[in-house]
Amino acid sequence: MTIWQNWSGSVTSRPSAIRYPATLDEIAALVQECRTANRHLRVVGAGHSFTPLVATDDMLVSLDHYTGLESIDAQNNTATVKAGTRIKALGEMLFQQQLAQENLGDSDVQTIAGAISTGTHGTGIQFGSISTQVCALKLVSGDGTVVECSETQNRELFKAAQVGLGALGIIVSVTLRVLPAYKLHIEVRRKSLSDCLKNLEAYKRDNRHFEFHWIPYTDTVQAKFANLTDKAANARSIWRTFNEYALENGALWLFSVFNRQFPAASESVSKMIANFISDSEDVSEAHQIFASVRLVKFQEMEYNLPAECFTDAIQEINAAIHRERFRVHFPIECRFVHSDDIYLSPASERESCYIAVHMFKGMPYREYFAAMEAIFKKYQGRPHWGKLHTRRAEELRPLYPHWDDFQAARQQLDPQRLFTSPYIEEVLGK
Ligand SMILES: Cc1cc2nc3c(=O)[nH]c(=O)nc-3n(C[C@H](O)[C@H](O)[C@H](O)COP(=O)(O)OP(=O)(O)OC[C@H]3O[C@@H](n4cnc5c(N)ncnc54)[C@H](O)[C@@H]3O)c2cc1C
Repeated sequence: MTIWQNWSGSVTSRPSAIRYPATLDEIAALVQECRTANRHLRVVGAGHSFTPLVATDDMLVSLDHYTGLESIDAQNNTATVKAGTRIKALGEMLFQQQLAQENLGDSDVQTIAGAISTGTHGTGIQFGSISTQVCALKLVSGDGTVVECSETQNRELFKAAQVGLGALGIIVSVTLRVLPAYKLHIEVRRKSLSDCLKNLEAYKRDNRHFEFHWIPYTDTVQAKFANLTDKAANARSIWRTFNEYALENGALWLFSVFNRQFPAASESVSKMIANFISDSEDVSEAHQIFASVRLVKFQEMEYNLPAECFTDAIQEINAAIHRERFRVHFPIECRFVHSDDIYLSPASERESCYIAVHMFKGMPYREYFAAMEAIFKKYQGRPHWGKLHTRRAEELRPLYPHWDDFQAARQQLDPQRLFTSPYIEEVLGK
């Protein structure tokens, strides 16, 4: 029996088989095989979700052998890509065609299908999550047939499949809206939390991308502003590389190992980390600039809140950390995203902010995350599907205006519940 583990080590599962189909026919045949044998099947992307979305004791399917660009429609600025393609590879292939995705998250190791299936997002109030870049997709449904859907064809299935948690079928290809390749000027600035809260609306409005990482027990944040530029891209500056590897990863790792050993020192460790934050800037092709290197492993909870609740929620988080003296030194990440009309998107029908809390791998996180989740709940928070949370279907349903529409699409695409698992039943119901 194979043992499968996700990136953070929060999920271990023992699938009875892992299969790597390499053609559409093989994918469809696998679904037929499971259907005939009355088995269940889950699809895995890059395994970067913290929640047990891909855990199964039955068949696990990876599209690692089903990757690459299928076609480009230059007239309509779209690109169709096989579902197992990693975001980093996709960026490089698009760039060769002088194209780019309009926005990305802070990691590029995910598969395109895995990323959209949980509503993976970046930051910038002009943009929705990566799922909103999808204008059509193709999936193999529960009866083994290929279903095509888009904004104009099978629209109700499309709105469900844009964030489908792997519960509707195996996505085999994704057509994305793309832009002519562009460059971004990224400025990393040491700022105060009070400054960011005071100037929040201006920072969000006046920058293509704005986000910040706030260090607990301090008023210090690392703010990132990224905007379009015509300036020549500089070779990745030594300072940025040093910042990313030595400070953001190396120093963070050292502080984290120390803090895991001496958790009572959290407050001092946070303050020391804050001292390391400094200014830097870079000009780069877009596909190379969004993702950061993440060598230090952690656990994470991230919630989507209505944008207007941001400041109140942050102040409450600050008060809770000080009151409860949580042993945490990892930053709190704050991002801002446009609303969308996708059934299970956390940003469905509301302008959104995302607040993420992290804990170094191996340090106790449950008490801290539970307190944060209680605050997120107060503000009608919807969990990131791929990050730790404790919400279950009955609680989640009232939070999503199109929950029942999603379930209708699920019933249509997978009436036999081939694509289910105990965890999927917990979050989506039977
Ligand atoms: C270091 C790190 C950085 C991250 N950064 C961000 C970020 O900046 N923004 C953000 O929003 N999230 C972020 N995440 C979360 C991550 O983007 C999501 O959890 C994402 O879904 C992971 O993609 P994956 O390819 O690893 O998919 P997996 O985690 O393997 O799977 C996720 C879901 O997709 C489904 N799936 C995968 N492939 C298919 C397919 N072909 N057909 C149907 N369903 C499929 C799976 O069944 C599962 O339900 C980060 C996670 C980590 C560990």
